Amino acid sequence: MMDLKKSINLMKEIPSIEEGLEKIYASVSSGQCQGCLKCCTESVNTFFVEFVDILSYLQGHPQLLESHAEKISRFFLLEMLEQMYCPFVTEEGQCAIYPVRPLPCRLFGHLEETDYNQNYDAVLKNNEDLAIYYKETYALILPSETINRKIPYCENFVSEQKMTRDDRDDLVDCLFSLDSRFLMNECIGFEDVNQSLITWFFKSIMSIEDASVLRVNGMRLYQEKKMDELELLISKISEKIIKLNSI
Ligand code: SF4
Ligand code: SF4
Repeated sequence: MMDLKKSINLMKEIPSIEEGLEKIYASVSSGQCQGCLKCCTESVNTFFVEFVDILSYLQGHPQLLESHAEKISRFFLLEMLEQMYCPFVTEEGQCAIYPVRPLPCRLFGHLEETDYNQNYDAVLKNNEDLAIYYKETYALILPSETINRKIPYCENFVSEQKMTRDDRDDLVDCLFSLDSRFLMNECIGFEDVNQSLITWFFKSIMSIEDASVLRVNGMRLYQEKKMDELELLISKISEKIIKLNSI
């Protein structure tokens, strides 16, 4: 039931939503990043308000979605089979949506190592459950490199002020509170809160059930080495994603 056009308009009509988001982002202290891109190898958790902000930014820079749609499609279909950079990493090794990047991208490097590792344990458990699901439901075997993949704790980021797990949870609560404004205005349903960044793009152009079917088809084509068919599928999805520029 996601209504993107209504959501973008709501964010324009109610300035306190954008201001709330800016306040959350501003509360993350700055630091010095070495730009190694090791943390830019996943589709990070993103709240709906963040996705609307990103989509508005992309619509203001239409060439960005045009040049990244194919990578978005490929990432969604194949992220469980091969290691890829986040689709928004540019050829120059920079973030194409840096001014509007979601909270996890801003927090990486600020977390204490213990908190970071606890988070990894949860990701690993989720990957193991996914591997069982794909094997039992679709006879698809996920490579162990993908299941056990770990983004190493960042030793190189020089944080002005480290954040605790509680600090992070407070910011997440604030994001949830902003998402509730969209819920109350019936722009989204409860099932639409907090998805991965790339999943939001798919949810914007089709139902999540259809997206899951497409992903399985893409994984099968990849494993059966039917690359021409895979590229055709990616190209068709990319065309739909580019249309988000003009909703
Ligand atoms: S935050 Fe750390 S891992 Fe990420 S790009 Fe910067 S230095 Fe590399
Ligand atoms: S959105 Fe930007 S900062 Fe975040 S993972 Fe992707 S490229 Fe990196």
